[in-house]
Amino acid sequence: MAIPIDVSGKTQSAAAWVNLGSAELVEVPCPKMNAGDILIEVEASGLCATDHKVCGGHTPSAARNVIIGHEYAGTIVAIHPETHTQLALGDRIAVNPNIYCQACVYCHSARVHLCQNLRALGITTHGGMEKYAVVPISQAVFVPPHVSPEAASLAEPLSCVLHAFDKGNVRTGHDVLVVGAGPVGCMLNAIVRAAGARCTVMEPNPARRKIVKEDFSADEVVDLDALPGCDGRFDVVFECVGRTDAMENALTCARPGGTVVWVGVARPDAVCKINPYLIYARELTLRSSFTNPYTMQRAVRFLADGGLNVEKFVTHKFSLEDFPKAWEAFERNDGLKICVMPNKSSAEIAAMTSN
Ligand SMILES: [Zn+2]
Ligand SMILES: [Zn+2]
Repeated sequence: MAIPIDVSGKTQSAAAWVNLGSAELVEVPCPKMNAGDILIEVEASGLCATDHKVCGGHTPSAARNVIIGHEYAGTIVAIHPETHTQLALGDRIAVNPNIYCQACVYCHSARVHLCQNLRALGITTHGGMEKYAVVPISQAVFVPPHVSPEAASLAEPLSCVLHAFDKGNVRTGHDVLVVGAGPVGCMLNAIVRAAGARCTVMEPNPARRKIVKEDFSADEVVDLDALPGCDGRFDVVFECVGRTDAMENALTCARPGGTVVWVGVARPDAVCKINPYLIYARELTLRSSFTNPYTMQRAVRFLADGGLNVEKFVTHKFSLEDFPKAWEAFERNDGLKICVMPNKSSAEIAAMTSN
């Protein structure tokens, strides 16, 4: 039987939001479990645009000095004696960072993601950009052992994308437009195609167009100059950029009776120009999607069944000691997903990526 790891009294390094505009490594005490918690050894922890917003001070709920990391997975190394679970030491889990109060009107009406007292690991409270992390058992989702840690760390972003996908009511044979070929756009493309719909991806960056076409098999990729030809063409449009011009353009691309889902996260003070007559005359449905209610399990299954080309999706891997390099690559907007592997040394990662 596996022996639990005891980290009490020890310290570790973690990436935290200390100064406005960046995240940096700090030395912190290892976390302590309470009843209902497990301790995991974090194997993979992704960086995402939300981290950028958090560290830039653009996420109103974010807490200063918080350990970042809300897209993470790891192995259970200790279970508090008063934690009730079927999970066992050694199990790999993915973390759902969004913690619902289970007491408000939304939690009581099957809309937990709209919880009035929402907390989030890595945003309002410490997350997983560290080697050992305490996770409330309610946030742990079992991952089959054949799923790699890197793939498991994608469960959270994929769960958000699945919720957005659900909002679009895509049907087999639909003509779908995804605006933006970043991580969210590439995931949506994979899900839309798996559902038997046709996926066109609009993206101004030629390198990203190439990636979504060659590595994620988009049916068609177009530059922004294709916009006039896209007017009124698509059954469903997903905007995955979060810029007001892209959000405005998304509306014009939907066909009469079509649905537009704003998936990208705009700045809290951004204001859009939309044409109410267009929405009226084409009887458009405009929807938004917020986080990942009830979709973590499906995300894990989609990953476990090979629904996403994870090898191509995780373009960079770094050790935690190399976190500054990971953040630099992230700031340069290199590749798609940057994954930090806190239980591996830089040499181990170099060996992994060279073969
Ligand atoms: Zn994220
Ligand atoms: Zn609630």
